[in-house]
Amino acid sequence: MHKNGLTTEILHSDRKQSVEHGAVHKPMHPSSQYIYEDARELAAVFQGKAGYTYSRQGTPTTGALEAKITLMEDGVGSVSFASGMAAITAVLTTLLKRGDHLVSSKYVFGNTSSLLGTLADLGIEISFVDATDIDQVRAALRPNTRMVFAETIANPGTQIADLKGMGELCREHGVVYMVDNTMTSPSLFRPREVGASLVMNSLSKYIAGHGHALGGSITDTGLYDWSDYPNIAEPYRKGQPTGWGLLQIKKKGLRDMGGTLAAEPAHRIAIGAETLALRMERHCSNALALARFLQAHRGVAKVHYPGLAGHAQHARATELFGGRYGGLMGIELAEGIDCFDFMNRLRIVLLATHLGDTRSLALPAAHTIYYEMGPERRRQMGIVDSFIRLSVGIEDQADLIHDFDQALQASMPR
Ligand SMILES: *Cc1c(COP(=O)(O)O)cnc(C)c1O
Repeated sequence: MHKNGLTTEILHSDRKQSVEHGAVHKPMHPSSQYIYEDARELAAVFQGKAGYTYSRQGTPTTGALEAKITLMEDGVGSVSFASGMAAITAVLTTLLKRGDHLVSSKYVFGNTSSLLGTLADLGIEISFVDATDIDQVRAALRPNTRMVFAETIANPGTQIADLKGMGELCREHGVVYMVDNTMTSPSLFRPREVGASLVMNSLSKYIAGHGHALGGSITDTGLYDWSDYPNIAEPYRKGQPTGWGLLQIKKKGLRDMGGTLAAEPAHRIAIGAETLALRMERHCSNALALARFLQAHRGVAKVHYPGLAGHAQHARATELFGGRYGGLMGIELAEGIDCFDFMNRLRIVLLATHLGDTRSLALPAAHTIYYEMGPERRRQMGIVDSFIRLSVGIEDQADLIHDFDQALQASMPR
């Protein structure tokens, strides 16, 4: 049977669910409360029937966005949050308890790493491992391990975990496997294909694309049997076990913790998602061309980009992501080039944190996102002082290459 592609599905998703006044987009619903003509109906929604009550638990607008994300990730359901961090926090704090153990890749987004420190303070055991090596992940498993966590392309070092091996390991051990798909987006990779139980996306990045809204999501792939999971509270053990995990994340993580995505940003994210696949192609082709150019430039000591044949996990990236390698790269400047002076000479590339934007962005990683963790942990993570994180945008390729070239030429020691 014919199966529509990602872009077709996103473009027609709202219209297929329900047309309001012929609108092709789901209209924005900023109402905080939803009324019922019949008190029994109101009670039924509180007791689990699909519907809306108070917008802390979602609106028709977030519902429409969640349906798109579920299609994109080939999952069974999704919950949206006010940011990617709110989404990760909701999962970890609602599915893990004091005394449980989590194995995480040590190459994770700085704020995620900091959050895991907070959870450790609350009594959840955390092991950071080099997840590019499955033996290290396996060796870290304990009888109380409940979850394994990794990103697809690690930010900013671009290490690629053994995502497939981790999927097999988690299935063997009945452990929840959560994958942060932000860096690849469902346009390059669907973590379900390697056995992920839960998929997290920061919607603020490639999925929105426009740098105009924050959001995050959790998708349940339907692969994990939650009837095996000890931490599901009694009220959420109803209906098919495939839905239990997400129900608990939604009730405890969204309703109780309140990191809800508002209707307006949800709508903006949904509009951005329509062009995700088009943008990703351009991010990837620009980044590959720029990585090759920078690698050959005498002003650059090292380029970290999975599309380069010399990247330690190049073959794995090719297999997992279909020969596309994303828009994120790290560069280390040659001896004698000051990273601040070089960055100040860039004219098109913006000096900013954030990534996945249509515009190219550069950030001195050691002095910003990795500043707080100190020199020792930076050394362990391989972040040298001249490390610059680049999020390659969709500008015209020749203009980007020209911008880097002029800034490097002017910064070379003479
Ligand atoms: C940005 C990012 C997050 C957090 O998402 P926000 O929407 O900014 O909260 C999580 N993981 C990765 C890999 C990210 O790049």
